Amino acid sequence: MIDCLFCRIVARQSPADITYEDDEVLAFKDIYPKAPVHHLIVPKRHIASLLDATQQDAAVLGRCLLVARRLAETTGYAEKGFRLGINTGPEGGQVVYHVHVHFTAGRRPRTDA
Ligand code: AMP
Ligand code: ZN
Repeated sequence: MIDCLFCRIVARQSPADITYEDDEVLAFKDIYPKAPVHHLIVPKRHIASLLDATQQDAAVLGRCLLVARRLAETTGYAEKGFRLGINTGPEGGQVVYHVHVHFTAGRRPRTDA
C-alpha cells in the first residue's frame, strides 16, 4: 500500500473538510487556500499524476470536471466564474502525487499563467 496523503483522506485516515463525495470522486477544502474558495477534487482511486493517467482513467477524470461544475453551483460561482488547475510534475508545482484538480474562485486570476 502506497503512503499517499490523499488516499488517506479518501480512506478517512486523515482529516479533511469534505465538500463532495460519490463512489469515484472526493472533493475537500484545500488546507492552505490560495483563493477565497479553494477545493481539491480527486479520483478516489490512486493515480499519481496526469502523466500516469491512461484510457482507463478517462471516465473518472471527466467526472472530476463535472464535480467542479457542481462545486461552482454549490459555492455560488457558476456565473461569476472559477478556475481549474492540475499541477503536474516538479516544475509544474505538483507537491502531492495523487492527481487532483484545484478549484479556485473569488479572486481575479493572474493573466500570465
Ligand atoms: P499541488 O501543489 O498541486 O500538489 O497541490 C497540493 C495541495 O494540497 C496544496 O494546495 C496544499 O495546500 C494542499 N494540501 C496539502 N495537505 C493538505 C491536507 N491535509 N488537506 C487539504 N489540502 C492539503
Ligand atoms: Zn493516492
